[in-house]
Amino acid sequence: MRGLAKGLKYTLKNLTREKVTYGYPHEPLPLPDRFRGIQKFYPEKCIVCNLCANICPTDCIQLTGKKHPDPTKKGKIIDTYDINFEICILCDLCTEVCPTEAIVMTNNFELAEYSRDELFKNLEWLDQNDDNVRRENKA
Ligand code: SF4
Ligand code: SF4
Repeated sequence: MRGLAKGLKYTLKNLTREKVTYGYPHEPLPLPDRFRGIQKFYPEKCIVCNLCANICPTDCIQLTGKKHPDPTKKGKIIDTYDINFEICILCDLCTEVCPTEAIVMTNNFELAEYSRDELFKNLEWLDQNDDNVRRENKA
């Protein structure tokens, strides 16, 4: 009986305390501003300079460009852009080096998949990775 009262006292005392747990995945986790999550890619900003692919320490970026369809414009536009998230270490180097901010880090970290093949993300997927893009990184 004494043990029960002791337990109840502890429970009642903690009922009014601020929660330290989150109802994830039903509630999104609050993340710090500088969190380095899965990249968002803006194809229209990419100038196909290859800096991101060259600096990547794990060689997980593959990209190709093509001639600008408008003959009056110089330079290339992006054709394909893939990141292999099996080996991406989310180091932020690709986004730091990008001169046009065509690739930026987000607060999105959910990459769980049933197949390793699904960890290859292409241009369309990266372009649509709009969830949790930091306000200053939105186009
Ligand atoms: S975050 Fe790092 S490892 Fe991942 S693609 Fe960018 S440079 Fe490569
Ligand atoms: S994403 Fe940025 S760094 Fe990479 S090729 Fe495009 S413009 Fe260059």
